Amino acid sequence: MTQIINPATLNVIAEPRETPIEAIEAIVARAQRAQRTWVRLPQSHRIDALRRVAVAVRSNLEDLALLETANVGKPIGDSRGEVGMVADTFDYYAGAVDKYYGNTIPVDGGLDFTVREPIGVVAVIAPWNFPLAIASWNIAPALACGNAVIVKPAEMTPLSILKFEEIIREVDLPDGLFQVVTGRGSVVGQALTEHPGVGKISFTGSTETGQTVMRTAAGTMKRLTLELGGKSASVVFADADLALAAQASTGAVFGNSGQDCCARSRVLVERSAYDDFVALFSEATGRLVVGDPMNEGTSMGPLVSAAHLAKVGSFLDGSLNILSPAANQEAPGHWMAPHIVLDPPRDHRVVREEIFGPIVAILPFDTEEDAIALANDTIFGLSGSVWTRDIGRSLRVARGMETGSISVNSSTSVRIQAPFGGFKQSGMGRELGMAAMDGYTETKNIFISTAI
Ligand code: NDP
Repeated sequence: MTQIINPATLNVIAEPRETPIEAIEAIVARAQRAQRTWVRLPQSHRIDALRRVAVAVRSNLEDLALLETANVGKPIGDSRGEVGMVADTFDYYAGAVDKYYGNTIPVDGGLDFTVREPIGVVAVIAPWNFPLAIASWNIAPALACGNAVIVKPAEMTPLSILKFEEIIREVDLPDGLFQVVTGRGSVVGQALTEHPGVGKISFTGSTETGQTVMRTAAGTMKRLTLELGGKSASVVFADADLALAAQASTGAVFGNSGQDCCARSRVLVERSAYDDFVALFSEATGRLVVGDPMNEGTSMGPLVSAAHLAKVGSFLDGSLNILSPAANQEAPGHWMAPHIVLDPPRDHRVVREEIFGPIVAILPFDTEEDAIALANDTIFGLSGSVWTRDIGRSLRVARGMETGSISVNSSTSVRIQAPFGGFKQSGMGRELGMAAMDGYTETKNIFISTAI
């Protein structure tokens, strides 16, 4: 049994079962049997089943949102939005089932074409920061493409995924097509990564664990989608709408208390606008409410755990020039108010490492080239924003930044319809959009001779 703690109250809220390691063999075998049934069903059945998952999620939206908030500490409004996105994701991939196909290829002597076939059994290893939402980005396209899915939620945050498993029992999926295993990543997660019956791992988490998964998966040549860490930048030019850029950049780093792989934990500001921007950013940060995530007006809940709070706090050392304009919440939860670090040395940890908490570094730059070089001076490449009214510059900088997604005059990173994933050590493969379907299928080429 694992004790699940509400990070806002420190109360134990559940003690879910842990999947014994000896059970993995039977779980994978069940998934393989279910997948063989699933892939043979008419595609209309698959479409209908995915739509019914969306309906089931919507009718349980409040329960799922309450669980997500109690388990992760995120504001209830955010949890509702995420659960709504889960339903929309299943609808999107229900619609994708009959719109995803191969190519015909001009060759001599016959007809050559490709078909896309499911991989088989997919293991989704999910993180704790967006437990159900990120899992759904992988579960929905995997099922749409004809695979079976086994999900391993993060040990600290399994509740919404376990509830999801329960509510979709009313959808008539083949027995074993969707299963959840719980327990430690280094035990059950590792067992799935090693198992020859699992064809693909979709992993979201740290770059370090992603590397371990990649090494282990190499033993059976598994397909991989890895969505890993980030050190994303908002790049703000002096001609931008500074008030809007400051307001949005605040949300882009302090949303989910900074526990977001897309968090723009570096804000790079053109030197001539630096002081004005810092004043606006600090004002916007001061309006954030750190407190009970069950309250509608809360902007930031606690961090997920005591260990994580300690890790994030370790970034703040006495050498830094720090502002902290929002009030912190009293104990007992794992609270941390937002912190703004002004013009730190470019080689400081706060500029170089993923923090995954409510700390932002605001650095000045002098030229467009300097801004691009600074934005790219990281091992990561997940997301980013550019703020300017100059369309040519927005495109030059967006193209120059080595990241999987960029928003111009916006702080959003994720849209269900668009591909999402990282350059460099932020990962490989793409989630969401039709691009995700490529990650859940193999390409088969068929040639039919016309010679006879
Ligand atoms: P991990 O990367 O260790 O965990 C992510 C998932 O992988 C969890 O489900 C975990 O299970 C599982 N896992 C752990 N070890 C293995 C393994 N050997 N084989 C297979 N699966 C495994 O993240 P942490 O929770 O330790 O967070 C550490 C840091 O990672 C954070 O501070 C943050 O910087 C980053 N992170 C990034 C995320 C992102 O969205 N890109 C999401 C989460 C974290 P279990 O929880 O049971 O250990």
